[in-house]
Amino acid sequence: MALVNEHFLKLQGNYLFADIAKRVNAFKVTHPNAALIRLGIGDVTQPLPPACIEAMHRAVDEMADARTFHGYGPEQGYDFLIEAIRHDFAARSINLSPAEIFISDGAKSDTGNIGELLRWDNSMAITDPVYPVYVDSNIMCGRSGVLEEDGTWSNVTYLPCTAENHFVPALPSHRVDLIYLCYPNNPTGTTLTHDQLKQWVDYAIANDTLIIFDAAYEAYIQEPDVPHSIYEIRGAKKVAIEIRSFSKTAGFTGVRCGYTIVPKEVTAADINGKRIPLNPLWNRRQCTKFNGTSYITQRGAEAVYTPQGQKQVKEIIGYYMGNARLMREELTQMGFEVYGGVNAPYIWLRAPKGMSSWKFFDKLLYEVNIVSTPGIGFGPSGEGYVRLTAFGKHEDCIEAMQRIRKWM
Ligand SMILES: *Cc1c(COP(=O)(O)O)cnc(C)c1O
Repeated sequence: MALVNEHFLKLQGNYLFADIAKRVNAFKVTHPNAALIRLGIGDVTQPLPPACIEAMHRAVDEMADARTFHGYGPEQGYDFLIEAIRHDFAARSINLSPAEIFISDGAKSDTGNIGELLRWDNSMAITDPVYPVYVDSNIMCGRSGVLEEDGTWSNVTYLPCTAENHFVPALPSHRVDLIYLCYPNNPTGTTLTHDQLKQWVDYAIANDTLIIFDAAYEAYIQEPDVPHSIYEIRGAKKVAIEIRSFSKTAGFTGVRCGYTIVPKEVTAADINGKRIPLNPLWNRRQCTKFNGTSYITQRGAEAVYTPQGQKQVKEIIGYYMGNARLMREELTQMGFEVYGGVNAPYIWLRAPKGMSSWKFFDKLLYEVNIVSTPGIGFGPSGEGYVRLTAFGKHEDCIEAMQRIRKWM
C-alpha cells in the first residue's frame, strides 16, 4: 500500500480564479450583451519580440539538420545564454560566475522547487498578500505547519503589506530561517528602495536567514532608486538566492524560460552547524530532476539581450506601463486610493469605504462590467483591495476608466 504525502491533503483548493470564473459566467448568463473588460488577467498579451522569433526560427532550422541538431543540452543551460545573463548583471556591477546561473523552464518551478534544499522544519516568513506558490510549495513538504482557524498557517510568519505601512513589510519580530521576497511585487505592484531592501539583507546577515528573492518583474522598474537585483546590496551574495523569468520581461509565459542564481557563498547549516554551500546542492537537484530548457527556447531568450531585443522588450513593457500609468492617474483623479503601477504592471486598488474585496469585485463586475481580482485571494492583508493588471489592450483600459468615471 502506497502511503500518500499527507501534507498534500492540507492544501486549500486554489479556488480564487475558479471562483472568479464562476461569478463572471453567472454574470454573462444574466447579461448576455454586456461588453466585459478583463483587467484581472495575469498573463501577457503582446506577441514575442521579433528578435526572439527570428532566433527561434533559426534554432528550429538547426534542429532540422543532422549537422547542427541539438539533443540533450546541459541541465544548467547553454553557455551562450548564461554568458548573456552574466553580461546583463555585470552592467549593474554584479559579477557572477557561470556556475552560479541555472537556466530553467520558469520562475514558478524554481520558487516552488528551491525549498527542497532545506529541511522541512525550518521556520519561514512571507509578505502578505503574496504570490501563492511560496506558501503552497512549503505546505507540500510540511514546512508551513497546520492551518489555524483564521486561515493562516501555524509555522508561517505573515508580514502584512498594507497602505498603513506603505507596503513596506516590517522585519519579523523574531528570527526566521527562510524568507520569500518578491520585488517589484505581485500582487501589490509596489517596490522597495535600495535602503529598504538593504534592511532585509542586513537582517538576513544578522539572523542567519536565507532570502529567496523573486525578481520576475525586474524589467518593469522605471525609477532609479529601485534595485533590479538583490545583489546590488552589499553582502546579499551570502544570504540570497535570486530567481528571474523571461515570462513578464519578454512575453515567454507560453515559451517557458527563467533562471535562478545561487551564489557560491550562500550556505545553510547541517544539523551539527557545519556550513553547506547551496550551489552544488541545487546543481545536483537540477541534474537529477530537470533535463534542461529546450535549445530553441534558450536561443529565443538569448535574443532578448541583443540590441534589437532590448529595444523591442522596452517597447512592449512601455506599452503595458502606459496602461498602468493611465489607470493609476485616472483612478487617483477620481479619488480612489491607488498603489503600484509605477514600477510594475499591477494596480492595487483600495475598495471605497471599507468595502470587502469580493463586494468591490461584484460592484465592478455588475455596475461597470469590469473583471478584477479580489485582493483577499492573495492573503489576509489583501482584504479590502482588488488587483487590476496592465496586460490588456490600451483601448480597453481607456474604456474601463471612462466607465468607472461615469459610474462615480
Ligand atoms: C509571473 C510570475 C512569475 C513567473 O513565473 P514563470 O513560471 O517564469 O512564468 C514568478 N513570480 C511571480 C511573482 C510572478 O508573478
